[in-house]
Amino acid sequence: MAEKDLILKYALQNAIFYSGKANPRAVLGKVLASEPELRKDVRKLEKDIKEMVEDINRLPLEEQRQRLEELAPKMMVKEVKEQKKLPDLPGAKPGGVVTRFAPSPTGPLSLPHLLRAAFLSYLYARKYQGKFILRLEDTDPGKIRKEFFDYIRKDLKDCGIEWDQMVMQSDYMEQYYTYAEKLIREGKAYTCSCTPKAFQNLKRKKQNCPGRKMAATEHLRKWQDMLAGKYGEGTAVVRLRTSMKDKNPAMRDPPLLRISEAEHPLKGRRYRVWPLYNFACVIDDHVLGVTHVFRGKEHENNTHVQEKLYRALGWKSPVVTNFGMVRLPGEKLHTRDIKEMVREKKVSGWDDIRLPTIRALLRRGFSPKAFRACALGCGLTKTDIRFNWEALEKENRRVQDKDASRYMAVLEPVKLSVKGSHHELRKIHQPLHPDFPKRGKREVPVKLDSIYISGDDYKKFQDREIRLKGLGNVKLEGERAEYTGNVLVREMQKIQWVSEPHIKLEIVKPDKTLEGIAEPALKKARKGEVIQLERIGFGRVDDKKKDTVIVWFAHK
Ligand code: GLU
Repeated sequence: MAEKDLILKYALQNAIFYSGKANPRAVLGKVLASEPELRKDVRKLEKDIKEMVEDINRLPLEEQRQRLEELAPKMMVKEVKEQKKLPDLPGAKPGGVVTRFAPSPTGPLSLPHLLRAAFLSYLYARKYQGKFILRLEDTDPGKIRKEFFDYIRKDLKDCGIEWDQMVMQSDYMEQYYTYAEKLIREGKAYTCSCTPKAFQNLKRKKQNCPGRKMAATEHLRKWQDMLAGKYGEGTAVVRLRTSMKDKNPAMRDPPLLRISEAEHPLKGRRYRVWPLYNFACVIDDHVLGVTHVFRGKEHENNTHVQEKLYRALGWKSPVVTNFGMVRLPGEKLHTRDIKEMVREKKVSGWDDIRLPTIRALLRRGFSPKAFRACALGCGLTKTDIRFNWEALEKENRRVQDKDASRYMAVLEPVKLSVKGSHHELRKIHQPLHPDFPKRGKREVPVKLDSIYISGDDYKKFQDREIRLKGLGNVKLEGERAEYTGNVLVREMQKIQWVSEPHIKLEIVKPDKTLEGIAEPALKKARKGEVIQLERIGFGRVDDKKKDTVIVWFAHK
């Protein structure tokens, strides 16, 4: 019954949005998004929706409206569409898209990886009300580290990326072995004991490995020996039998599995034969029912190898998009460089403010929504993208501007004494956000003979009339500020100020830490809250000490 109601509501909604004619596909998408459980019997659901839509489409539009008004009035309003939308995926149907993000736990998530592989896979799954899988590719035991499993999951969660299923490749070793054995038995893969150097030479000369012609039964025996530990690291691999004459060297009998004696952070020394990326990826994408793969074009050769593997296994390949790379401007900082810096303690950790890691950027007050908008902006283009920090800052400003409460703070404070005011002011009240008065006000204490402004403003506005925000207009004459009235003059520069009592403030920037003072209300901002310091910029309250607030700076 609940299911029928759901279908009815979405059918009515779709009909009233589209001139009285609901589209069963669109209704299916909505119903599945709201009740993913129903995917279990999509055929029945499709049939029910078809019948319902036929009934609803027969009704006049006015009647459809009335019925939805009674049933679910909130659904009468059209959802606001995202400004930037992902281009449609060819052949993708609502409920019929399965994507995955497949990082290796060799470091935390990097910004380029997040913006394209992670966000695109995730957003496309959501666009089509499909399924999004997080797959941790942990079959290179020597390179992976336990902490990075957690880092990746946390970084994704903190960015609002929720997966419907998570798999760890090392949990499926027997499955890889089964398929490897099948390929060897069918003569589509073979064991090879050439040294890496010897095989490189054969590859260059387009010649076969001497063992390649052995019977499948021989290779099977050798395979068993590999599993039994009779081969040491680097002494045996399993290769896909393609052609050693292929014009693309990467396609000449690529390796599928190899031996590693390194200890796996989760599985210990239980396995020695480990699948390589291409092999594990194909098995998993197939078994998990992945329909669309999004990965960088550095994987283009891998995509070709994988196509061959799909053919060898008699499977259909998912639709693969190899997009261009996102390049961060400025200092080249690869994950391996950062790892080095962390190890040598040149930075305080993976979230050091100088690093372009997700955790550092979040800690500075960059919003996941800004990352997401940039991801949409990058789209699916094949050309490399020079990542533009200004674009990220602009998005972040747009997102945070609505939420961030305003506070006044000054750097290199200079004390002024306001003269000539008849007002006996002890405090004023300023809105936390000028556009949303309902959020409340902050109390700013005032002592007219102790008004602090920033050193820069002090120098810049000498002998000029300025407006001390919320307080009034003054003319600056050295440290004397002559009160000149309270009339708002549009051209007059408005500046922030702090009086007594005040608190201390530290603004942590990538290149230095600035010290200043701030109005006491800032102490009430939550730890982790993103705020705007008027005329200074946006940042995140990182810590609060007795009389000091520490803000990590994002941007102006
Ligand atoms: N572990 C690979 C990477 O992070 C996965 C590539 C893929 O999506 O197939 O680059």
